[in-house]
Amino acid sequence: MLDADFFRRWMTIAAAVIDREADRLTELDSPIGDADHGSNMQRGFAVVRASLDKEPPDTPGAVLMLAGRQLISTVGGASGPLYGTLLRRAGKALGDAAEVSGADLARALRTGVDAVAALGGAAPGDKTMLDALVPAVDAFGEGDFTAARAAAEHGAEATIPLLARKGRASYLGERSIGHQDPGATSSALLFGALAEAAG
Ligand code: ADP
Ligand code: MG
Ligand code: MG
Repeated sequence: MLDADFFRRWMTIAAAVIDREADRLTELDSPIGDADHGSNMQRGFAVVRASLDKEPPDTPGAVLMLAGRQLISTVGGASGPLYGTLLRRAGKALGDAAEVSGADLARALRTGVDAVAALGGAAPGDKTMLDALVPAVDAFGEGDFTAARAAAEHGAEATIPLLARKGRASYLGERSIGHQDPGATSSALLFGALAEAAG
């Protein structure tokens, strides 16, 4: 079973991984975006980490809802509301249980990813974070953290040949082909952090 500590650990590890990879995320966002994805994520997760430290919520659902709210209020770019919605909706789906199972988390993540798709109007194949999130949630099953990480990483790499149909990269049309999507890359980092928290 997964408790609030586990979810705080996930968010803390995510903040550290994003700090470490921020330059790479920004570099990926420079040919097909506005070169701010790393700094957007870094700012958002620094606030997530600080608020979880300040008043640690005591249920898994409350941890994710707080993290999601902080992302929505601190990240100006497209990724803030999208990741914020992912975490807030997943947290809400977990309810107020003190511990949740892998199957509960699978259902919650699915709810969150569906909400991201509804908010952004994107589907897999559009060269967005959903190209990592959807395969990750599919692979997660009832709690296979390492399969989810591998699927997210593979999904992120598989955005390279895609033509962007949503977000800033879509303004480039054909010129978006040949570059890895920054948001799909950060999604893979988040699933990497989740696997690390579980390991
Ligand atoms: P911005 O594009 O506003 O500068 P970021 O650079 O932080 O925001 O985030 C860009 C990422 O957001 C993209 O790489 C893509 O993965 C994701 N994204 C953008 N628009 C959408 C959308 N409509 N649906 C899903 N993901 C999206
Ligand atoms: Mg950007
Ligand atoms: Mg921007």
